[in-house]
Amino acid sequence: MDDLLQRLRRSGLKVTPRRKAIIELFLQRGGALTPSDVYDGLRSRMEKCGLPGVYRNLDTLESCGVLFRFVTFGGERRYALCSSGSESGHHHHIVCTSCGKVGDVTDCHYCDGMPVEGFRLVSHIVQLHGLCERCEEKENRLKPKIRNKS
Ligand SMILES: [Zn+2]
Ligand SMILES: [Zn+2]
Ligand SMILES: [Zn+2]
Repeated sequence: MDDLLQRLRRSGLKVTPRRKAIIELFLQRGGALTPSDVYDGLRSRMEKCGLPGVYRNLDTLESCGVLFRFVTFGGERRYALCSSGSESGHHHHIVCTSCGKVGDVTDCHYCDGMPVEGFRLVSHIVQLHGLCERCEEKENRLKPKIRNKS
């Protein structure tokens, strides 16, 4: 938590009660959340907060590297905590398609400015989807049961 608040301060941003509450919510849920998940989560714990305000705060937290944003296959916008932060260097994120668990991926072969297939790379967004250990285990456990039923 302190490390995450530190990232806010280092970017010259104030630690407001609302920003703190959003970070706490992400720590509690431990996965990726949609802006409306955050909205619902905040409503139950503190004073009313509009959805536009939630979007604004999420964008602020993204800009300082506390959160990162990604888009699901369904085109839904989600946010999750970045565990290592931008100061740990260039990295991307992998998201479990089943439970929303997030991991950092430091293995990236692109660097902006490099030539790629007759282009010069200006920016890149890499989004990785996977199945986390726990969900894969769960799936493997379910498989034989399904077979027994049929
Ligand atoms: Zn990260
Ligand atoms: Zn999972
Ligand atoms: Zn990269």
